[in-house]
Amino acid sequence: MSQEGEQEHSDRKKYEFRKVIEDLKDYDGSGTQLVTIYIPDDRQISDVVQHVTQEHSEAANIKSKQTRTAVQDALTSIKDRLRYFDTFPPDNGIVLFSGAVDSGGGRTEMVTKVLESPPQPIESFRYHCDSDFLTEPLEEMLADKGLYGLIVLDRREANVGWLKGKRIEPVKSASSLVPGKQRKGGQSAQRFARLRLEAIDNFYQEVAGMANDLFVPRRHELDGILVGGPSPTKDEFLDGDYLHHELQDTVLGKFDVAYTDESGLKDLVDNAEDALADAEVMKDKKVMEEFFEELNAGDLATYGFEPTRRNLMMGSVDRLLISEDLRKDVITYDCPDCGTTEREVVDRRKSTPTHTCTECGTDVEATDEDREDAIDHLIDIAEQRGTETKFISTDFEKGEQLLNAFGGFAGILRYSTGV
Ligand SMILES: [Zn+2]
Repeated sequence: MSQEGEQEHSDRKKYEFRKVIEDLKDYDGSGTQLVTIYIPDDRQISDVVQHVTQEHSEAANIKSKQTRTAVQDALTSIKDRLRYFDTFPPDNGIVLFSGAVDSGGGRTEMVTKVLESPPQPIESFRYHCDSDFLTEPLEEMLADKGLYGLIVLDRREANVGWLKGKRIEPVKSASSLVPGKQRKGGQSAQRFARLRLEAIDNFYQEVAGMANDLFVPRRHELDGILVGGPSPTKDEFLDGDYLHHELQDTVLGKFDVAYTDESGLKDLVDNAEDALADAEVMKDKKVMEEFFEELNAGDLATYGFEPTRRNLMMGSVDRLLISEDLRKDVITYDCPDCGTTEREVVDRRKSTPTHTCTECGTDVEATDEDREDAIDHLIDIAEQRGTETKFISTDFEKGEQLLNAFGGFAGILRYSTGV
């Protein structure tokens, strides 16, 4: 799969995960206990099964019969699901949720959800049994987007690494042989100064080499580079054009940091928080601005479910834009009398309405099978037609407009279709 393809795949996956989490958060485990397990991909499934078995036998000590049964049922259900996996979990791990939830009218219902391969690796095993499902670690992963290069340096040491979502990954470090400002006796001041500058220049080259090796191969995925250090080091480093020119263009900013060891990378990310937030929304802003330009200029834009769908079917959509906050279903109605197919988009929580055929006036009923997630429906078509999908946040004005004024769906077209 191409990197762009992977990106789309992961955007879609994020959407699927987000839906599951929203459902889970709606459940209330009142009085009973809900079990959540996060499993990293280097943890053997058999270890986890053992852990779950242990918890199951310990649950026998729970005094309330209702809670005891609920916890043991949840653990049994989790064990059943674990049997479907090989020795190790799939890449990035698995998250399991299971428990008896309130299904209204004083009844409870067992719910078990398994999420495989989250967008970022699960870092540590977690077993959680509480009145709520533990969704926060997943939510954090989903909120995070972006790949940034990190460089911290002073004249003594440097560290480079990645910021992947919210995760900082130190990769390489270097230390310099730059002599201190104090020269030794007998050395001429001029010679000492020259040697010192040479050593500094060499060190900057070494740091840039390290950064180039790491970042250049992934420069097309890279959302930007952050540089941290004391003044004037970071300024000298950037002003001296040591970095590969394509990297130099993606530098989002330079920031003061107290340390240049691995902890300096964290310092750097903390201090660059505003710049990172801007960079994130900026990508969405650019696409929406392009959409509005096309919309105002004429015919290379489409919006609303049905027109967007028709354009997608024709293969004319270059980029499909979907509001991140949209939660709608689409219902397909096939008229039994005249054979006309029509669709209605409804709120996720609304029941399926009866549709009146616009061709012949017959009332058409739909079943559950005729109803599906509207986003999935369009992404399926987009994938078949090689159309790129972009989820747009509602954290800025035009993003909000996509949701509220354009029905949450829009497209930038390759060519005009008159639809
Ligand atoms: Zn009809």
